[in-house]
Amino acid sequence: MVKVVKSTYDEIIKHAESGYPEEVCGVLIGNNGLITKFKECRNLNRERARDRYELDPHSFKEADDWARLDSMEILGIYHSHPDHPSRPSTFDRERAWPDWIYIILSINHGKYSDGRAWILHDFDSTFIEEKIELSL
Ligand SMILES: [Zn+2]
Repeated sequence: MVKVVKSTYDEIIKHAESGYPEEVCGVLIGNNGLITKFKECRNLNRERARDRYELDPHSFKEADDWARLDSMEILGIYHSHPDHPSRPSTFDRERAWPDWIYIILSINHGKYSDGRAWILHDFDSTFIEEKIELSL
């Protein structure tokens, strides 16, 4: 199970909707398994921004520093799938790191449709879906 503070999840949805029709991405921040914050990151992939993302390493470093200031850590990554289901693509799978939480938000015609969380338990396995639980 993946726990996310509801207001944080709502803000992530807003980010994903505002980026439509391009894919947006960012990092999920928190501790003790609860995602409390996020940070928008730049999608460096300009050529295929509609169906791929490449998280800007500079944004990633900034987010990591920002998380540490509050004694938090990066727990995973979120990104949007414009007009595609919220399941990981082969490309997503190839680039994923084990034990990180990957939240994928499906945005249809500019509106949030659904979001699902995925975790890879080791490099050779497939993504396992985890239920998202929203908390106050
Ligand atoms: Zn994807």
